[in-house]
Amino acid sequence: TTTVYYEEDAEQKHIEDKTVAILGYGSQGHAHALNLHESGVDVVVGLRPDSSSRSDAEDAGLDVTTPAEAASQGDVVSLLIPDTVQPDVYEQAVEPNLEAGDTLQFAHGFNIHYNQIQPPEDVDVTMVAPKSPGHLVRRNYERDQGTPALLAVYQDATDEAVNEGLAYAKAIGCARAGVLETTFQEEVESDLFGEQAILCGGITSLVKHGYETLVDNGYSPEAAYFECLNEMKLIVDLMYEGGLAEMWNSVSDTAEYGGLSRGDEILDDHVRENMEETLEQVQNGEFAREWVLENKANRPGYTQLREAEKNHEIEEVGERLRALFAWSDE
Ligand code: NDP
Ligand code: MG
Ligand code: MG
Repeated sequence: TTTVYYEEDAEQKHIEDKTVAILGYGSQGHAHALNLHESGVDVVVGLRPDSSSRSDAEDAGLDVTTPAEAASQGDVVSLLIPDTVQPDVYEQAVEPNLEAGDTLQFAHGFNIHYNQIQPPEDVDVTMVAPKSPGHLVRRNYERDQGTPALLAVYQDATDEAVNEGLAYAKAIGCARAGVLETTFQEEVESDLFGEQAILCGGITSLVKHGYETLVDNGYSPEAAYFECLNEMKLIVDLMYEGGLAEMWNSVSDTAEYGGLSRGDEILDDHVRENMEETLEQVQNGEFAREWVLENKANRPGYTQLREAEKNHEIEEVGERLRALFAWSDE
């Protein structure tokens, strides 16, 4: 079973005499920097000279310098910039400034797991990955609430990696909610699979197939939009609150019987086989290779896919409908 750590398992002393360099001040970066700072940890933010977030960080009372200078000052260097730019920034600004015993810290394991960053053997390599967008990590901290996080150690050169990672997780507020122990491999593979098969890819594909089926059979785009996209949120909110059971309890018996008897006919064994295939491409590195090459080539396939998604009829219908109804800006 999975180990879960809480406040009493983490001691902030393991990070208190250290300087934490936060590279990037975006979604995760601003939340980690501000929460650490307010927990009394020494923080220095590393940003490129023309960064649009520089004044935000400075106005919040944080020390801001270049990524290279921050990495040199930091005992813990947290790479909180987009995963696709991490390898270059690591090579140019971080690697030359890592000393034996420093910690290289991530919020997602892609670059380590797929060998896009290969750290020296004398540093700790850890991950504290909040399971939520950065603005919630920040908001929960301000309200004395927590955000669950994953903790993983890839390399433990000092024998202190777990204690330090827990101290970091506590200082950003995550130990209030719970810190789950995992590995880089598990975090990366389950994360990629989840976003591809279910959360981002699966759900949008399901919505589009449903919309197209109704519209192709003569139903109005407006009715199809509400049925296939808008109501999704209500259903997901119920599952979030009380699992599948709460959702089934809240819908009509007709909806429950129809859903239970037809759901697995739609998403049948064939879908399950496709999921196995998707997972395999994550596990054997095929997806990672494709994505790295895609970025090296300036994203030709990605741009095309984005364009096609933007031009789907459901987007135009939705924009029109959302403007007409009061719930649009709730
Ligand atoms: P963001 O896209 O929000 O990062 C933006 C920041 O990165 C900005 O400060 C930007 O500065 C800086 N930046 C961008 N490019 C460069 C560059 N070439 N050199 C230096 N700085 C650069 O990142 P996220 O917070 O979304 O992601 C950070 C990490 O956290 C990733 O590993 C991600 O997988 C992980 N993660 C993200 C979650 C999320 O909710 N977003 C959830 C859990 C993990 P500038 O103003 O100069 O552009
Ligand atoms: Mg250093
Ligand atoms: Mg993800």
